[in-house]
Amino acid sequence: MKIATVLRNDDYTREVESELKQKVRAADSPHCFVSGPDDHPDMVISIGGDGTLLEAVHQYGAEPAYVGIHTGHLGFYADWRPDELDEFVERLVEQEEPAIAEYPTVQCRIETRDGQQYDKWALNELVLRNASLSTLVTCVYINGDELETFRGDGLIVSSPSGSTAYNKAVDGAIVHPSIEAIQLSEIASINNQAYRTVNSSLVLPKHHEVELIVMNPEIMIGLDREQAVWKDVRSIMCRVGQEKIKFARYKRLTFWSRVRKSFIKG
Ligand code: NAP
Repeated sequence: MKIATVLRNDDYTREVESELKQKVRAADSPHCFVSGPDDHPDMVISIGGDGTLLEAVHQYGAEPAYVGIHTGHLGFYADWRPDELDEFVERLVEQEEPAIAEYPTVQCRIETRDGQQYDKWALNELVLRNASLSTLVTCVYINGDELETFRGDGLIVSSPSGSTAYNKAVDGAIVHPSIEAIQLSEIASINNQAYRTVNSSLVLPKHHEVELIVMNPEIMIGLDREQAVWKDVRSIMCRVGQEKIKFARYKRLTFWSRVRKSFIKG
């Protein structure tokens, strides 16, 4: 198996990578390390945090399986601690076919007023905000039917695995990654006698589409770690992505135990 690594930029993480490589080589395994997407690795090991894993999936895409080693706190995408490297390498060498968990993505099509279309995706979420501090105004349609005109700071369309990230900070629901869905959540909506939104997060199934018709001339679009100002966007159409991201599971760590460890008791 060809393995690539993606690292958080710090000395400790680089030490962990070098230890990992030594242990894999010492185990006399058939696995080899490769250096980039052009080498088409079968597996990508992200060493760092959840942010590092997001960087890895945007570098390598949906083809390889991913494994995370966390060099900070326990993450949602990382299973292994650096002090468990021996156990990890033993399983990597012994188990030719690890269990694979597949996590849904958010697929979005951004259309500009002159009709150009850009296809993008996110593992955590798409975030839409106004480019300046003034109110974002967006008409929200679900499967072609008008839901509301949103006024506020922004909107988040998250995947199930992204539901524990930004979405959770705005009181969105935590969704198990085996559920193929997207979630639309509001950031600081204006609700008064003049303006009204549903003011709850909505969880949409696989075959539903949410369309955001943008009224502001300049907006900020975030896709996981990447963010950019876009001009003259007419609409953003979001749905559950066709591609899923594969995670190789060499140990049993349930999603709900991660929720407990991350948010309640580590
Ligand atoms: P960052 O601002 O450096 O870190 C944001 C935090 O979110 C980090 O602690 C990161 O974990 C954690 N995180 C990332 N994905 C997660 C997930 N699926 N479940 C639970 N926690 C998660 O940004 P970053 O490292 O580049 O990560 C980008 C992500 O930050 C975005 O996708 C967005 O979800 C999140 N974000 C959150 C807020 C908020 O909560 N108010 C605001 C902006 C962005 P690690 O420390 O393990 O990397």
